[in-house]
Amino acid sequence: MAMTLRQLTTCPDPATRVLERRSRRRDRVHDYVLYACHRHRWLIDSWEGGRRTVEEGELRCGVVFEYRDYAEVLRSHSREWVCRLTFNDLEDDHRGDVVGWLRAAVAELCVAGREAHEGVRVALGHAVLAAAVERDAKVAQAAVLTALAVAETAEAAARGA
Ligand SMILES: [Zn+2]
Repeated sequence: MAMTLRQLTTCPDPATRVLERRSRRRDRVHDYVLYACHRHRWLIDSWEGGRRTVEEGELRCGVVFEYRDYAEVLRSHSREWVCRLTFNDLEDDHRGDVVGWLRAAVAELCVAGREAHEGVRVALGHAVLAAAVERDAKVAQAAVLTALAVAETAEAAARGA
């Protein structure tokens, strides 16, 4: 699986610290690498890995280089924000059924009072479409991960992070 990008904040500040999760697998060096500014250093506290400071200007706050495989990244999205926002966990509530999980998350955001998360809903809807319609599995997975990453950043924006 190729590296995918995630962006956990909409913060414009340069990162001042980085968290690197070394992989136990032979086919990759890292599971993920996460950058945060001083103000968002709490982000790093909720992820596991080795921490170090970086020179300002290397990268922006909130960037994640994600090297884990498809199923692992989906679980991470579920744990880190989708379940908190929509009360739907991929494993606990949907037994790993990705399309069912994404559809339920979208349905939760369609009800009245969730208008602040319209951007998240739209991006999750794109993920549903990619997972349900695309016939090439690799293309579908890449499209789902990209849509989830956009939804994740939109969720951070709605939260003011
Ligand atoms: Zn920041």
